[in-house]
Amino acid sequence: MTKLEALLKNVRDCTLCVEHLPLGANPIVRAHESSKILIIGQAPGTKVHNSGVPWNDASGDRLRDWLRVDRDTFYDPRNFAIVPMGFCYPGQAKGGGDNPPSSQCAPKWHDQILKNIANIELTLLVGMYAQKYYLGARTKRTLSETVRDFEVFIPNIIPLPHPSWRNTGWIKKNPWFRERNLPYLRDRVEQIL
Ligand code: SF4
Repeated sequence: MTKLEALLKNVRDCTLCVEHLPLGANPIVRAHESSKILIIGQAPGTKVHNSGVPWNDASGDRLRDWLRVDRDTFYDPRNFAIVPMGFCYPGQAKGGGDNPPSSQCAPKWHDQILKNIANIELTLLVGMYAQKYYLGARTKRTLSETVRDFEVFIPNIIPLPHPSWRNTGWIKKNPWFRERNLPYLRDRVEQIL
């Protein structure tokens, strides 16, 4: 067993914040020593919690469209490491949508995992939780501004909105995302894979 495999086994046994998880702990994370692109998203939804397969939902379909990759390419961990801000489903928020990802998860596990995936050429920060955690003061006033000004972070980091259906209106309202960001993202992903 490699060091990374042993670490991921420990992650899968984690119950650190289980008292805050309505469906219990079911950490969903994938990585390989050869992973080239790292996706840091939010946290699994119920569909992903039930299937155990990350991005196995409509958001994942939209993300794959943005990346222009098929499922086989996406789910090969030698291509993509999938390490969300919270590895377990965090429950539903009162106003609809899901609760924020566990605040304990990334500080507990991310550094350890990232140390073992040294071949990452591109990190996709999907949504404001990942952007705030990894960009800190470099985030702009709003997610739209951070995503719009993606050239500040390239070539190794690309901030993205969450591909959830909840952001369909945002995507329509911000045509520059399809016109400028997606062509760059697709070229960069193609170049790396
Ligand atoms: S969300 Fe993260 S810290 Fe909490 S139980 Fe799951 S793996 Fe552990």
